[in-house]
Amino acid sequence: MSPMSIQPAPSVPPPPVPSAARPPRRRPSQLLRAAKGPLWIDLHVHSTASDGTDPPDQLVRRAHALGLDVIALTDHDSFAGLAAAGAAAEAVGLELMPGLELSAHHGPAHGPDSRPVHLLGYGCRPDHPELTAELKLIRRSRRERTPKLLEQLAGLGFELDLAEVEAQAGSAAAVGRPHLADAMVARGQVVDRDQAFALYLGDDGPVRADRHTPTAARAVDLIRAAGGCAVLAHPWARGAEAWISPAWLAQLTQHGLFGLEVDHVDHSADQRRRLRQLADRLGLAVTSSSDYHGRGRKGHPLGAERTDPAVYAVLRQRLVDQKGRL
Ligand SMILES: [Zn+2]
Ligand SMILES: [Zn+2]
Repeated sequence: MSPMSIQPAPSVPPPPVPSAARPPRRRPSQLLRAAKGPLWIDLHVHSTASDGTDPPDQLVRRAHALGLDVIALTDHDSFAGLAAAGAAAEAVGLELMPGLELSAHHGPAHGPDSRPVHLLGYGCRPDHPELTAELKLIRRSRRERTPKLLEQLAGLGFELDLAEVEAQAGSAAAVGRPHLADAMVARGQVVDRDQAFALYLGDDGPVRADRHTPTAARAVDLIRAAGGCAVLAHPWARGAEAWISPAWLAQLTQHGLFGLEVDHVDHSADQRRRLRQLADRLGLAVTSSSDYHGRGRKGHPLGAERTDPAVYAVLRQRLVDQKGRL
């Protein structure tokens, strides 16, 4: 069944998922809020478990204080923030959709034609052996890349050591370029993360080193195998329209892609319109999310984009059917 074939939002919230293995169910916020108007749903936010600046519990409380009903915590290549976020969500009565943002690539594995692609995975079972193994590989490879990046920065005259980067990463499960950027900011070498990426650390910048990521198709396969639903994050952001073609999206759809993150701050109105048409043609769901990183990224305030509650209901039902994690 196409995700778009269910049009009206259900008047009754989906039934709770019984499972002895799962943590206690959170209070279904739909019940409380449905009468007050449309739900406010943000399906893409980051915590300190990856490169966000809000700890997972604070992030949940911030979302609740703003009035959001549902957030998906989608840290990069890690489920590490979900336990703390889940407990906080339970306490305040917000619904937490467990998620992650899986790093993948388009084109060859390495070299100038290899392009990063991000797959949001919703409702994945966190103990799925293949997905767990892949996540470990991705995180290890990212960690091992950091000294290489530091060497290149030293070549450009920026003195910085690994301990400074690790201090910025704090408890993050995945140490990466954003933390390196934070260390540069702390040293006064750049003014903020955006400048660090624009001048040095970006994918087309002078400081680069290969790391392991799966192909986008394999990322979708892994998310599906773990009972989850895969949504392509910010498909055409930052110039990606040049390589993310409709034909390539059709291939990914064959692998079981669930949706496209059409409404993202980095997409223009025209891109959103054309991505919507594409999603419609391919039978993909359309999601709308902020990609909030706290102070880690400007212009992505929490709740900036809202996913249609009807789409969320389809996603939730799909996860129930697939025995995903809810
Ligand atoms: Zn992303
Ligand atoms: Zn993100």
